[in-house]
Amino acid sequence: MRWRVRGLLVMLGGLVVSACVPLTQRLGNVAAEWQPSPHFEARRANYVILHHTSNDTLVHALSVLTSPFSGVSSHYLIGREGRVLQLVDERQRAWHAGASYWGGQTDMNSASIGIELDNTGAEPFPSVQIEALLALLADIQTRHRIPQANFLGHADVAPARKSDPSALFPWPRLAAAGFGLWCEPPYPDAPDDFDVLLGLAAFGYDIRHPEAAVAAFKLHFSPDDAKRGEMNATDRAKLYCLLQQRITEQQ
Ligand SMILES: [Zn+2]
Repeated sequence: MRWRVRGLLVMLGGLVVSACVPLTQRLGNVAAEWQPSPHFEARRANYVILHHTSNDTLVHALSVLTSPFSGVSSHYLIGREGRVLQLVDERQRAWHAGASYWGGQTDMNSASIGIELDNTGAEPFPSVQIEALLALLADIQTRHRIPQANFLGHADVAPARKSDPSALFPWPRLAAAGFGLWCEPPYPDAPDDFDVLLGLAAFGYDIRHPEAAVAAFKLHFSPDDAKRGEMNATDRAKLYCLLQQRITEQQ
């Protein structure tokens, strides 16, 4: 009887030992021992990317963003009347930014929450729609602690491909509420040797296509100037001001 008990104990001991042998995870070409820690949580977004849908109706926009064939989505969609729809969990990677870049980040979909505003791109954004956006941004900002400078437009992060949200988007109103940077005159004088292209890169833009980067900056910060391909003296001063704002915000 005693031997039977001892045999059982040996068998149980063997099971315990084998349960403690680490599992092996193979991700890519590296085999790693799985030694789980309890200290983790879902990753948080650190950017918000704003879009306009280019659609006429919320129903149409929703059908595109939820179609199994479209290959595009966003976390939120806001209608013209301020109706807020959530399409993707914030912890998941929605497909809204595509090939994108900002300040060294090369995968904005992984780093951001995407918000689509239903708008054709040629119409003003109704105040009630912007009020709903501001309430949503405040909620997101509180939960994710996203820096003010990291509220951007799709055109900012994909300047060679995209031009949304349109020049009618009220960036100053957002910045006044703490979402995105903005400078009002009088602007500080930029130094004579201030290099505009390097300034755009330091601010975050992808400057591999310089004309596109300039056009995206103008769309966002000088929307009333139809000369999107030129950085005039005011634009230089605005960019210099924005860089100073961004440095101040980081401190
Ligand atoms: Zn977009």
